Amino acid sequence: MEFTKILWAPFEQFLDLSYRMAYLYLFSALVVAMVAYMIDKARKGEAETVSLLRWLLPARILLHPSAQADFAFYFINKMLLAAIYGSMLLTTPLSFNAMTAIFEWVLGPSAANFQPHVGFSVVTTLVIVLALDFSLWALHFIFHKVPFLWDYHKVHHSAEVMTPITAARMHPVEEVIDSSVAGLSVGATMAVMHYLLGSAAIQITLFEINIFIAVFYFSAFHLRHSHVWIRYPYWLQHIVVCPAQHQIHHSVDRKHWDKNMGFIFSFWDWAAGTLYAPKGKEELTFGLGTEEDGGSWHSLRALYFLPFRQSYNRLRGKKDFAPTEPAE
Ligand SMILES: [Zn+2]
Ligand SMILES: [Zn+2]
Repeated sequence: MEFTKILWAPFEQFLDLSYRMAYLYLFSALVVAMVAYMIDKARKGEAETVSLLRWLLPARILLHPSAQADFAFYFINKMLLAAIYGSMLLTTPLSFNAMTAIFEWVLGPSAANFQPHVGFSVVTTLVIVLALDFSLWALHFIFHKVPFLWDYHKVHHSAEVMTPITAARMHPVEEVIDSSVAGLSVGATMAVMHYLLGSAAIQITLFEINIFIAVFYFSAFHLRHSHVWIRYPYWLQHIVVCPAQHQIHHSVDRKHWDKNMGFIFSFWDWAAGTLYAPKGKEELTFGLGTEEDGGSWHSLRALYFLPFRQSYNRLRGKKDFAPTEPAE
């Protein structure tokens, strides 16, 4: 791959609307944050409110070693993804072709001969987003519950302040697994729908992604990794994950550990007993909630290599890592 393409990879993510980091999704979060600022200002009164810029981008967050590490990690990770480990991902077309071949081998060629219809398209689109979201929830649950995997997921939870870039604070091991599971679940679901509906299995897209996912990215998705508290009504928090619920997921408070592992929908957590739906504003501190907070994770060396060291020591039964197992 060309060197310039690798250098461009981190910026490409901001421009391509099929990526969650795209400028339009960041802009929609900004609009919602501005409304939240105005509500806050109206409630507190002029005298107690700082300027919009200082409220949105406080120096205590932007200059925090955690945020600085996020920014550096983002750029290097996206270049590594483009240069090296992007080719290791199991993609949607690959799993679609493999699953279609398996179905045809086991069940014979599909006899489905339906004409395209908006009803089929809506069902196909909904089934794909549900399958994807369930697989991401289940994987996130496993990353919390299996100690060997938690060593890698800790990278994401070690953030002590959050900005939208924190969404990309993901160890390459987790990113490869996450992206591959996403590719596998979408590809396999599309193969099932194609086998059942034939050419009528059309996914409705916006910016080349499932329309429900695009709408989700527009719905202040990026505020989940921020200090801006946006809480949906209590009943709605049982259906869709709001930014406040994901902030709870990052809280150091033990009662918040292993809660709200959903990506788009929260009913998986509701069914599993891991839903935490706040009824009012909660003051949160972000981080691991262990003695490892306070700076040990805010260097590129730690973010890349500490998970390998900790999981290696865990396999050898050596307990020289801090007691950071997630709560039971
Ligand atoms: Zn998590
Ligand atoms: Zn997060």
